[in-house]
Amino acid sequence: MCAMQAGLRGRSVVLLDHAKKLAEKIRISGGGHCNFTNLNTRPENFISGNPDFCRSALARFTPQDFIALLQKHNIGYHEKTIGQLFCDDESDVIIAMLRGECEAAGVKRFMSCEIGEINYSPRPPAGEGLGERVKAQAFHVSTSRDEFNSASLVIATGGLSIPNSGATPFGYHVAEQFSIPIAKLKPGLVPLSFAPDDWKPYADLKGVSLDVVVSFGKQSFRENMLVTHRGLSGPAILQISSYWQHGKPLHINLLPDCDMAASLDEQKGSKKLLSNYLTQWFPKSFADVWCAQFAEHTKIENKPLNQYNGKQRKEIAAQLHGWQITPSGTLGYNKAEVTCGGIDTRALSSKTMECIEVPGLYFIGEVVDVTGQLGGYNFQWAWSSGHAAGQAV
Ligand SMILES: Cc1cc2nc3c(=O)[nH]c(=O)nc-3n(C[C@H](O)[C@H](O)[C@H](O)COP(=O)(O)OP(=O)(O)OC[C@H]3O[C@@H](n4cnc5c(N)ncnc54)[C@H](O)[C@@H]3O)c2cc1C
Repeated sequence: MCAMQAGLRGRSVVLLDHAKKLAEKIRISGGGHCNFTNLNTRPENFISGNPDFCRSALARFTPQDFIALLQKHNIGYHEKTIGQLFCDDESDVIIAMLRGECEAAGVKRFMSCEIGEINYSPRPPAGEGLGERVKAQAFHVSTSRDEFNSASLVIATGGLSIPNSGATPFGYHVAEQFSIPIAKLKPGLVPLSFAPDDWKPYADLKGVSLDVVVSFGKQSFRENMLVTHRGLSGPAILQISSYWQHGKPLHINLLPDCDMAASLDEQKGSKKLLSNYLTQWFPKSFADVWCAQFAEHTKIENKPLNQYNGKQRKEIAAQLHGWQITPSGTLGYNKAEVTCGGIDTRALSSKTMECIEVPGLYFIGEVVDVTGQLGGYNFQWAWSSGHAAGQAV
């Protein structure tokens, strides 16, 4: 996106990538159909040390702007849940569109290109002010293909997730070279794991999917949660994983549409076993395991509903609406969709993505400390920040 925008402005642009294939993450995204944006994109959909940083770029290149590009190329798309737009065909159509636009804008491309040293010599020509400096070829980049001199250098090397797609820490190393601060990195949009002994009772439930509200602090998501043999996954868990802090518990409302305390009070004369009663909401396997675990922790056994007293009914309801569990960790960058943290936004102009202390150096996309929620927001940030820098380089 950045190369295309700069090329359209008549800049001489070279795109360097060490991967053999262009835009591998677009290809594998959205289950192969690229969830390329979200119609409801708002700054609130992003996590960052500075939540306002993304505002300017998102306002100047919106989901509608990207849709207009798709329409120009006759690319079909459809809306899935809550504003998420996916390609009708495979994600390759987006790659072909961006590649075609770059070629039309005169962008040269070098793939399988290993990047070596970056040297920077911001020398304003004698007698000229800083405004003229940008004309100097400040950056010298050594690569396996050639040596490149340029006035601007844009780092768009993404995060650490899925290393076999070509992800490397290159962008963070460039930041270190230029003494640019980095907000703490961690895997985001990632399944959560539990200590094997803690998870043993639940491991056999793998494949069970429940509609839940999962919360951490003030953040909540209502989506599906999937039980896996190592822990929890599914959209609700991926979403909360980007907010979750190690060592702290998550709260899961297993029955978001039901007032369980009232239901149990209504059933206080019933001879139905609690676990059987719960099968109207849960698969039997989950209801059995949940009741067994609840009994182990509270000593309130799984028994007919008419044998619980009021206090016990309240406790059962409270646990079903606020199941508290503490993950032991995440499945890491091999399974994460994104990397949270990154280039500290205080070091960048929110209008252009240029480093305040290093004129001519830009960071865009996932390498920056702006992380989208699940649902097309990460690509929208990549397009918007790429567009912002492409207008400025
Ligand atoms: C499985 C999966 C599915 C996803 N699905 C979606 C989705 O549907 N919707 C959504 O919004 N987001 C999705 N994401 C997130 C999204 O793919 C990223 O946020 C987005 O691709 C970031 O764009 P980027 O240009 O910053 O970095 P990337 O797309 O990661 O591109 C970085 C480029 O830099 C190159 N590079 C890296 N290191 C070097 C180096 N040392 N030298 C030279 N080149 C280098 C890489 O080869 C790569 O081409 C998904 C992510 C994954 C892993």
